[in-house]
Amino acid sequence: MPSVSILRQILTTMSKSIDNEFSVQFTPDQWKEKLDQEQYRILREKGTERPFTGKYDLHFEKGVYSCAGCGSVLFTSGSKFDSGCGWPAFYQKADEGKIVEHVDRTFGMLRTEVLCGNCGGHLGHVFPDGPRPTGMRYCINSASLAFEGD
Ligand code: FE
Repeated sequence: MPSVSILRQILTTMSKSIDNEFSVQFTPDQWKEKLDQEQYRILREKGTERPFTGKYDLHFEKGVYSCAGCGSVLFTSGSKFDSGCGWPAFYQKADEGKIVEHVDRTFGMLRTEVLCGNCGGHLGHVFPDGPRPTGMRYCINSASLAFEGD
């Protein structure tokens, strides 16, 4: 059995290599200055807002949705749809590379986590049960998004 300290080292190295993917880097204290409590909990601690409570769930104005952490454009209103699940849903990301996906095995489920490709902020999850043409459903927390109308 490897010792606890070796396991801890391996985990620290792994989480560092994941964090280093992202060009925008701030300390937890710096993020707390930029974000409100709910945004910090969701974006930086992988939280989830309660369903049907987010400000963009039933929001269908024309415009773009950016990362609330770093401002990178993530989705456009053209791919937003009402999934009925209680969170904003999109069937397509704005551009390749703007979003990264990680396997998420928490809570005994196998899901695909969606993160901002620029700052690593947690956005939500993507499921293969969306509408055409992609068949994907990006289920995103409102608190992770900032909308700007056309
Ligand atoms: Fe971001």
